Amino acid sequence: MTDATAWTLAYEGFDPKEESLREALCTLGNGYFATRGAAEEVNADDVHYPGTYLAGGYNRLTTDVAGRAIENEDLVNLPNWLPLSFRPADGEWLNLQRDAVIAYRQELDLRTGVLSRRFHVRDKAGRETSVESRRLVHMRHAHLAAIETTIRPENWSGEIEVTSAIDGRVINSGVARYRQLNNKHLRALAAEPFADDGMLLVAETVQSRLRIALAARTRLTKDGEATAPEQQSQVEEGHIARRATVSLKEGEPLTVEKIVALYTGRDAAISEPTLAATHAVGNAADFDGLLAEHALAWSQVWERCDIALTDSHRVQMILRLHIFHLLQTVSPHSCDLDVGVPARGLHGEAYRGHVFWDEVFILPFLNFRLPEVSRSLLLYRYRRLPAARAAARDTGLSGALYPWQSGSSGREESQVLHLNPRSGRWTPDNTYLQRHVNGAIALNVWRYYDATGDRAFLATYGAEMMVEIARLWASLATWNEASGRYDINGVVGPDEFHDAYPWRDTPGLNNNAYSNVLAAWVLMQARQVLDIVPEERRREIEATLGLTEAELSRWDDVGRKLAVPFHEDGVISQFDGYQRLEEFDWEGYRAKYGDVERLDRILEAEGDAVNRYKASKQADVLMLFYLFSAQELKTLFKRLGYAFSATTIRRSIAYYMPRTTNGSTLSRIVSSWVLARSDRTRSWRLLKEALESDIGDIQGGTTAEGIHLGAMAGTVDLVQRGQTALEIARGVLHLGPCVPQELRGMRLNLRYRGSLLTIDMSSDKLVLTAPEDWTGPQKIGVRNRLHAFHAGDRLEFDCHLRTGGWRPRGDTVRRIPANRARRRPKSAAPR
Ligand code: BGC
Repeated sequence: MTDATAWTLAYEGFDPKEESLREALCTLGNGYFATRGAAEEVNADDVHYPGTYLAGGYNRLTTDVAGRAIENEDLVNLPNWLPLSFRPADGEWLNLQRDAVIAYRQELDLRTGVLSRRFHVRDKAGRETSVESRRLVHMRHAHLAAIETTIRPENWSGEIEVTSAIDGRVINSGVARYRQLNNKHLRALAAEPFADDGMLLVAETVQSRLRIALAARTRLTKDGEATAPEQQSQVEEGHIARRATVSLKEGEPLTVEKIVALYTGRDAAISEPTLAATHAVGNAADFDGLLAEHALAWSQVWERCDIALTDSHRVQMILRLHIFHLLQTVSPHSCDLDVGVPARGLHGEAYRGHVFWDEVFILPFLNFRLPEVSRSLLLYRYRRLPAARAAARDTGLSGALYPWQSGSSGREESQVLHLNPRSGRWTPDNTYLQRHVNGAIALNVWRYYDATGDRAFLATYGAEMMVEIARLWASLATWNEASGRYDINGVVGPDEFHDAYPWRDTPGLNNNAYSNVLAAWVLMQARQVLDIVPEERRREIEATLGLTEAELSRWDDVGRKLAVPFHEDGVISQFDGYQRLEEFDWEGYRAKYGDVERLDRILEAEGDAVNRYKASKQADVLMLFYLFSAQELKTLFKRLGYAFSATTIRRSIAYYMPRTTNGSTLSRIVSSWVLARSDRTRSWRLLKEALESDIGDIQGGTTAEGIHLGAMAGTVDLVQRGQTALEIARGVLHLGPCVPQELRGMRLNLRYRGSLLTIDMSSDKLVLTAPEDWTGPQKIGVRNRLHAFHAGDRLEFDCHLRTGGWRPRGDTVRRIPANRARRRPKSAAPR
């Protein structure tokens, strides 16, 4: 694999069956908006789905489903700015499904964020034409996007007609199982040409009244010379096109350049979106000028976010693809916006662009790379604290009850009914009972603080969120006289297969171990946070929120006496009563159905219910070992008065792994992580499977509806934190690494408490370098030993692998003193 292939997602040949997957994986975006990698010449149909989504661009519609009025909030598919096509004056418009495709190659260049296609077609009349196109969604100028297409008649001469359009007649129809729901979110407001080569389309979302303006400028160059044939305008409701005819000689290239600007009524520093869009298009540079700035912006983001592996193999490319899509969904541009991370990116319509707990898999990567982006994502939650407080109050609880699925306003956006595509039946959806999302939000606040030391954030926003979430858990807990413990009843854990007891009519389970341990952590940590914020701020928070000593001691009491169920052999029980469930016939069902990832749907279609069985969709108990270190868990369980040891971890892993279908792509991340120390081979295999989740569409069709951002970020974090065994303990960064044989070596830059640290690892060596402006802690831990770490220091360690094993035998530290490390030979290239 060459350096270029480690940065390129490439497809050879045109395959209609693969197109929707490629569209999702070739999405271009910048954190403000994103557009699927659909071809410019297509409309939405069975093969293609051009979709453009704005971060936070939601709208609500009501549909009558099974006799009930159901309101859904969706991330709206915005007007399509891609349309650009051509035809010989007496021929038909380009159509790869009709024309003979002689050659076709599509490439996504991850380094520069450019999507290109190169193809050669022959129409019915035998005319051969070659086309080369490049596209970008600008990483610096967040409102701009551009296409450049060069058309060359290979064996003919004649007139060619070119069309460039903006199509506002789009609907949300990207996910087949949602098509029974209302999906017309846009109302057209205006479509008009301007100047010789401009066009403008204005639309509004029907309920949220978000005004969206798209302007485009289309220019032509013939054989390298600008040409300006008269452009006709075609205006229909919600659609505008500009068309021009040019005469070409055989072999003469015609380049069409389309520059687009997208603004909405919510944007900062504008008068109104129409003016902003037309001005932006008028002032924009040409394609090459835009590309230069765009590539520079990407190179800067990569400088902070890349993980460079010694061997450039497939793992490297996929890791970069995952980082790339993460940064296209949330980027430094997000900091100016009020947005969370949609679970399926801005890449498709699955889960309607809703924000789940998946942030807990995503923020760890961002905390060490672009902490300002993490901060802005946490602020999305902070701004929705009033909605969460209202939800708690309405449910008879205290504090803040964040929704399982969040959208525009922070109200609960979860479905109440779920369509099982296998049976065609709508069934009640109780997954909204996943109260554990509140623990994840608190954990995200704390982990962000821990990685950045941003006390101002904690004092101004974070502490308040943690206090309100602690209150929620305390109010969810009820005293159980019989057990002498607090119970948390009526919840659903991360494993969505279990939302009720088979012997009960009401939804919800009791004492989900993961939720309860997380609650115990929140109740403990929220108190500590109050000790960290400045004294005067603590007094303000106490006064504003009416926090009393009595309440704090109740937190302490609940946090020490929450129930955690165990099986007799010390395995942590997923919830009370789990052991009464039946064992599942895994072999029989695998033989019958092959893929049993969505066992819930299989069983419902059979008239059975997954609730009856010891079968999980995804890691649930194992989440504890993913989110907390063994040491943290020991402290928590000790506080709760339960025995906890390495055996508890080992037995629980061995128990749940074979009973988990991995029906969520998040699950393999957790499994790989928890096996990282004990079973390197399996852990690596699971990481490789997780890496294939989207690029290989291992769920058979779900990626086309949007990438799985939690799993993407999770794989990167598995390498970044998992393989380096990176942890923060009492403010000090600890590493315990030895690179697995499969990776050979890697280099990454991590931002810790404001400074950049470089980690270079190979199978036998670890080098840590602090820059000259290092202001982080003056110590660093490597395999449980602390070492002085000052500005300009370079520490080298030797690791020795035990035969076939993972643990290093010992380290040798070579300290290169600050002043020597600083002196680089004159000939050395600047970093
Ligand atoms: C998983 C959830 C996840 C959601 C969005 C579901 O399939 O069960 O844990 O939050 O997808 O990614």
